[in-house]
Formats: sequence, C-alpha cells, structure tokens
Amino acid sequence: MDKSLIRQIEKIVGKENVLSSREDLICYGYDATNLEALPDLVVFPKAVNEISEILKLANQNQFPVVPRGMGTGFSGGSIPVRGGVVLVMTRFNRVIEIDTENLIAIVEPGVITGDFQKQVEKLGLFYPPDPASQLYCSLGGNVAECAGGPRAIKYGVTKDYVLGLEVVLPTGEVVHTGVKTVKGVVGYDLTKLFVGSEGTLGIITQIILKLIPLPEARKTMMVIFRQVEDAATAVSKIISSKIVPSTLELMDNPSIQCAEDYLNMGLPKDAGALLLIEVDGDQEILPKYVRRIDEITSELNRYEMKIAENEKEAEILWKARKALSPASYRLNPTKIAEDITVPRNQIANFIRKAAKIAEERHLKIINFGHAGDGNLHTSIMIDDKNENERKRAEEGIEEIFKLTVQLGGTLSGEHGVGMTKAPYIDLELSRDAIEVMKKIKRVLDPNNVLNPGKIFNDPLTPSLSPDGERGRVRGKIFKT
Ligand SMILES: Cc1cc2nc3c(=O)[nH]c(=O)nc-3n(C[C@H](O)[C@H](O)[C@H](O)COP(=O)(O)OP(=O)(O)OC[C@H]3O[C@@H](n4cnc5c(N)ncnc54)[C@H](O)[C@@H]3O)c2cc1C
Repeated sequence: MDKSLIRQIEKIVGKENVLSSREDLICYGYDATNLEALPDLVVFPKAVNEISEILKLANQNQFPVVPRGMGTGFSGGSIPVRGGVVLVMTRFNRVIEIDTENLIAIVEPGVITGDFQKQVEKLGLFYPPDPASQLYCSLGGNVAECAGGPRAIKYGVTKDYVLGLEVVLPTGEVVHTGVKTVKGVVGYDLTKLFVGSEGTLGIITQIILKLIPLPEARKTMMVIFRQVEDAATAVSKIISSKIVPSTLELMDNPSIQCAEDYLNMGLPKDAGALLLIEVDGDQEILPKYVRRIDEITSELNRYEMKIAENEKEAEILWKARKALSPASYRLNPTKIAEDITVPRNQIANFIRKAAKIAEERHLKIINFGHAGDGNLHTSIMIDDKNENERKRAEEGIEEIFKLTVQLGGTLSGEHGVGMTKAPYIDLELSRDAIEVMKKIKRVLDPNNVLNPGKIFNDPLTPSLSPDGERGRVRGKIFKT
C-alpha cells in the first residue's frame, strides 16, 4: 500500500492505532478456517467518522476494507483475500445502555457476546443467542453472520433480537435502521438486510438488541440411543408433544467414540447417537417436561437416560459435547467444519448418507450439533498435507452439499458463506436470486471495496481450489 495512503489513514485514526509490520499483519489475516491472507494494514478505529473517512479513501484509491470482530468466523469472512485494510472493531466495545423498562440494549459491535450476556443476566434479563464461541466472539461478528447456537430451537437466532443498527455504508455514509420499539414497519426492513450480510454491505457500528426475561430454572438431561434413527425419532416426538426444549443437541456414533476416547467418561462407544436436552422455564413446570421426555424416549431403543440434579451434574453432562471440538483433532490435524441444516425429519437419513459418502472416499467424518433445528456440524477430519486426501475431502464436501439440498436443506445454518462456501452457493440459490443479491451489493458498494471476494464466486478472488473448480485450499496463504 502506498506510503502516502498509510499516512492519511494514520492521520484519521492516530498512528498508534495502525499496524503494518509483517508480524502484526499475520495476526489479523486468519480466522477459524485455517485460511490465511495478509492485509496491507491493520487499523483499529474508535469513531464512526473515522470508519466513514477510511471508506471514502478506499473508494477514491480502490483498496479493499475488511471488517473484523474477533476473527472466530468459520467461513473466512474476515480474511483479507485481496489485501487492503483490515478494520478491527474491538475498540467499539461499549454497552451503551440497558433499558430494563423497555427490555432493549444498545451496544457497540466489539462487545464480547458472553460478557454482554452475563451483564444482562445480572439484571434478570436474557439475551439468548449462544454460539459455542460466545466467550470470545463479538456481537458485531454475530450480527454480520446471524450467529445461532443450541438455544435457537426455542429462542431463535441473532436476527430475532436485532431491532436496529447504525451502519457505515461502503461509500462512507452513515445510516440508522430499525426501531427501538417492539413494532415498526416504516420502509423496507434494512436491518434484516444487514444482519447476515457477512461484512459485505456495511460496517456495523451500533446495535439495538431485544432482551427477554431470564427463565427461572433449567433442567439438563442426556439420553443415549442404540440407533441414530431412535434419536431422530425422539427429536420429532419431543417437539410434537408440544414441549419446546431450550436445547436439543445430537452427537452421532463417531462423535461419541471421539469424545469417549478423549474423556473416558463411560459413554457406550457402540451407541448410535445421544441427545443432550435442556428445558427451561418456571421451576414448577420442569418436572412435568422431564417426565414426558422420559416417557417418550423410554418407548424408543434407548441405552439410558441421565438427569442432572444440579448445575454441577449438568456441567458433567455437557462435558462430552463441549470436548468434541478439541477431541476431534485426535482423528486428524485439519477439520473441514460445515454447518449444513436439513429438515428435522431428515437428520437420520442425512447422517447415514453422509457416512456413506465419507466411507466411499476413506474419510473420517463426525456429525454433531443442533438437532432441534436440523443444524448439524458435519466435520471431515483430514491430514491436510496429504494432497490425495484433501482432494477426496473436497469431493466429499461437494457430495454432502448436494445431499443437503436434495433433502430440502441449506448449506449453512449459522457460519455463513464467506470464502469457503462461495463456490457452492449455486447448488442452493437460483441464478436469478444470486443476481438480485449481486445487484444489491453493486448498489451499496459500486467500487466493490468492502470485503470483496466473499459470498459470490467471483473470478478476481484467488481460486479456492488447486484446479480452479469447486473446493477449497486449507491453510493457503493467498498473498505474501
Ligand atoms: C470454537 C468455535 C465455535 C463456534 N460456534 C459457533 C456456533 O455455535 N454458532 C455460530 O453461529 N457460530 C459459531 N462459530 C463461528 C463464529 O464464532 C461466529 O460466526 C461469530 O459470529 C463470529 O464473530 P467474530 O467476532 O469472531 O467475527 P469475525 O470472525 O471477526 O468476522 C465474521 C464476519 O463478520 C464480519 N464482521 C465482523 N464485525 C463486523 C462489523 N462490526 N460490521 C460488519 N461486519 C463485521 C467480518 O467481516 C466477517 O465477515 C464458532 C467458532 C468457533 C471458533
């Protein structure tokens, strides 16, 4: 990047808020995908007008600007694939207001999700979206990805809690969207347009969030089944019995084996699947829910049901699910983590067919995730240095995506498209739908300066696969 441009940016945000040494650039060029690309500059703005000025400069001088929260994304969204400025939003870290009368909060995007949740819970309020990364991801990243988590089955995902936004458009103008009220239908719903736009349509600088009362109590159970079909049937039966659990997590047999090898906590390694179920609400109602879940699952081919009597026992039940991410790396050093979503009644069918796809290609696969909303973290564990295995994994992923769409599902329930799924979106979206999305991008970002090379498989982005076809290269440095 031109030295005079760097000086202009330093003038906007202060020299102390700009990094340019190679060591520093490396720290802001990756996320949780293993993909990497070096930016030209890393900038930490503190004020809306600073972001606005940087974007105006970007349009005048044609350099990319890539917003970054905490870099925990699972689709390469914050990776500066064409270099330019990485705009780190961590200094936008204030909880501006928690309005306990109207049950709303106004926050800046750099606030850590888990910190915010603790803060509102002290006031008896609840902000439900709970990505597993909540202790270290940012609310801005959550809004940009429309993050979800185990509680989505009962409480929905980030978009269900965003009432309004302050956004700096790619051309530098600042817009305010949405309302501070429960209702509001004036004009197009721009808030929904920006939620889940993966940092490609604007930079979020303020968020108005809806809060709800904190449930009084919760109860945690683990039910282990002999067959994955039984677990899937249990999911359908529990929901049709008009109990809406706050969490309904599934681990398939390879996931159980993986967790048991790692933790040695006595899980039966031949079990087909297990469900981790939580119900919440008023104290008096919970025993009734637990009894009903016991009745439903006892009619199926279940190994056992464990009910936590207190928080400590609940933590033990969660241990296997929480250990799964590190445990999976014992299978192989690189994870290709997907987050496909299928209709709930297709979960067992999906797991069986995905296992077959993996088996035919000699790949290690585990499926776990949010069975209550059909969102499975299908992870293929590979040795990335093995070219042949990587190729087989890329083929396997494409087949799994095709299967997902055939079953009426979607390629991503919560991680977004970013770079990793860009080559596949035409499996799910029609050409006309993609063109509408591209038109929206062009209207808001005529010079394509904001987070270019994301969502759409455009020819200017370095190929994500060695042969230029669908697929991706893991751990590749695009620009050095
Ligand atoms: C162990 C682990 C578990 C995870 N579990 C879940 C899960 O359960 N559910 C889930 O949904 N996700 C999960 N994720 C993925 C990730 O944590 C989420 O996508 C999260 O929302 C990303 O937040 P972040 O602050 O790290 O954003 P980043 O990774 O920094 O950025 C993500 C995207 O948001 C954009 N962005 C960031 N800030 C802004 C802003 N202020 N304005 C505009 N665009 C912005 C970036 O450009 C990028 O496209 C997990 C990740 C890990 C590593």
